Amino acid sequence: MKRIAVLTSGGDAPGMNAAIRAAVRKAIHGGCEVFGVEYGYTGLLKGQMKIMRYEDVGNIMQRGGTILKTARSTQFPTPEGQDMAMRELTRREIEGVVIIGGDGSFRGAQLLAKRGIKVCGVPGTIDNDIFGTDYTIGFDTACNTVLDAINKIRDTASSHKRIVIIEVMGRDSGWIALAAGLAGGAEFVIVPEIPHDLDFVSDKIIRGMNSGKEHSIVVVAEGAAHGFEVGERLRVSTGYDTRVTVLGHIQRGGSPSAFDRILATRLGAAAVDALLGGETNAMVGLVGNQVAVTSLDVVVNQKRGLDVSLYELEAIMATRLVKT
Ligand code: ATP
Repeated sequence: MKRIAVLTSGGDAPGMNAAIRAAVRKAIHGGCEVFGVEYGYTGLLKGQMKIMRYEDVGNIMQRGGTILKTARSTQFPTPEGQDMAMRELTRREIEGVVIIGGDGSFRGAQLLAKRGIKVCGVPGTIDNDIFGTDYTIGFDTACNTVLDAINKIRDTASSHKRIVIIEVMGRDSGWIALAAGLAGGAEFVIVPEIPHDLDFVSDKIIRGMNSGKEHSIVVVAEGAAHGFEVGERLRVSTGYDTRVTVLGHIQRGGSPSAFDRILATRLGAAAVDALLGGETNAMVGLVGNQVAVTSLDVVVNQKRGLDVSLYELEAIMATRLVKT
């Protein structure tokens, strides 16, 4: 394989630049020419791509977002859109594509694989919801952003003995809420994967406050409930003042953590290794701290579940046993 393309697709995530850098430099190291495609599949079908040199990916590792830009393309899923993409790839004799994105992007990658282009996915999304990897690129940075907010909100919440509700991203996944709640010492974490009962949450908060807690923090995953609705319900049922913070897109930005940079570097390089080794229709992930290659047919048809033992641990940490 002499020519490889790299693109980022779907929602951006901190660490995507480190993955681009790793893929470009590993491919050059392996004797390939590398094309950087702008705006994901939208740019691919328009031929919006240029050769990337070693130095073109310098000074990007520490930056959030993606220098290649990203997009969601409605045209690519159509046969005509794929015809256009294939024309642009074959015209340049590009045989392999590294696709950094989420499961939607990998479904697109499967279609390219069916048409004979070798593809390898790299899981880049803050949601940590991709099967075949213990962590997705961007998740750790997003959790640290939430944690920073929790630390600050905790200061003001204890001064006023308030309940604070922090709504976090993750779409249908509760991973960010759970990890940030566990690391931030939340009283309760509401996630889509596990049913919740606000009366139970309310009782737990009242018991905690009665036993001397200075504040209560509830982390709500956007896919489970609306922060403002939870806040209003808890205000009425507990009688305590509530404040709601919806963190929103700050969770998608920022300089990637060391963990995300290392993960992205390992996986970006591993994707090139996989392509040069003849793999296709595959995704590289980290499983038990080892790089693992999983078929995209498996990746897109399975959901990465929440670690329920972490949820239980979080609940235990936030429960004060009252002596009877
Ligand atoms: P994130 O999880 O961060 O949103 P994602 O990769 O899941 O990332 P999507 O918007 O679902 O984001 O997908 C990105 C692009 O991949 C889409 O705009 C579309 O062009 C392509 N794509 C998504 N689903 C399919 C599909 N079923 N078939 C072909 N292409 C698809």
